[in-house]
Amino acid sequence: MTIDERKIYDLVVRRFLAVLYPPFEYEQTEITLDLGGETLAARGKTVKALGWKEVYETQDEDDEEQELKEQNLPVMKKGDRLAGLTVAMTEGKTKPPSPFQEATLLSAMENPVSYMETKDRDMARTLGETGGLGTVATRADIIEKLFSGFLLERRGKDIYLTSKAKQLLTLVPEDLKKPELTAEWEMRLSEIAGGKLKRAAFMKDIRQYSGDLIHQIRAGEGSFNHDNLTNHKCPVCGKRMLAVKGKNSEMLVCQDRECGHRETVSRTSNARCPVCHKKLELRGKGDGQIFVCKCGYKEKLTSFKDRRAKEGAGVSKKDVAKYLNQQKKEGDMPINSAFADAFAKLNLKGNED
Ligand SMILES: [Zn+2]
Ligand SMILES: [Zn+2]
Repeated sequence: MTIDERKIYDLVVRRFLAVLYPPFEYEQTEITLDLGGETLAARGKTVKALGWKEVYETQDEDDEEQELKEQNLPVMKKGDRLAGLTVAMTEGKTKPPSPFQEATLLSAMENPVSYMETKDRDMARTLGETGGLGTVATRADIIEKLFSGFLLERRGKDIYLTSKAKQLLTLVPEDLKKPELTAEWEMRLSEIAGGKLKRAAFMKDIRQYSGDLIHQIRAGEGSFNHDNLTNHKCPVCGKRMLAVKGKNSEMLVCQDRECGHRETVSRTSNARCPVCHKKLELRGKGDGQIFVCKCGYKEKLTSFKDRRAKEGAGVSKKDVAKYLNQQKKEGDMPINSAFADAFAKLNLKGNED
């Protein structure tokens, strides 16, 4: 096997064995110490039985073991006196919260209570009961709209606000930025459902409220500046275009929304850099298209195509199907005997039965 194949094979075998093992058992320990009148606290685990972790024990010894060592606590009883403790003071800086990723943003929308300024219990409960902002069916769509409206952009897996979004947040009324608004409306909707509030009364309030909001925005001092204007003129209407980042591409869009003209400047392709194996970016138009890699590697699309034609374009779906068929014909034996081998090689101590 090649090194990569060997690694994948190892992962599969380990997982296969791990599912047959008993659970990993530990006790969660919290210790409060009295040290010369100061109260110190520690939290950690006491391992009772390694269980399935035994299969993974030799892996990643460097970092995982280190982490475990920090977390493992000795078995202790209430009232134990500890001798020979060393105490060290460390100074550090806190990191700002890490940016949202798609999954964390979704769960923040699902459970927005921790982002509420008021700690109103009724509101918190309402948000919990009604499933937060949006619904299961609409949340992904809401996020998608924020991307396509260029309010959010992706850097790797992290999601960042664009300057447009930041400016927008300074311009919109406070109410609209808070989960409390959703909670309030949801509470009134359930009043309607319970027959305690008339729909017409709610709609009247909403109409009034929307009017007030718009008035507030109009009367506001704020102004919006495009800080991503380029010198590139829109070929349709002649206005200057804005540089924006789409999901997998960089684009120029016309600043006039009515015009709506947009051009792709570059996009992330599925082709891999022959030097560093990162995904290549495809820039330019027509014959001038060129692959560019972050590591500095550049290749014209035309020469890339020539090279691929010479090398053979990797493995196609057809090739994979052919290979799988061939495997089938040879029977299931190779895989079974490979597992038997692996079982024999891995020392299964204490599990003879
Ligand atoms: Zn235009
Ligand atoms: Zn590269």
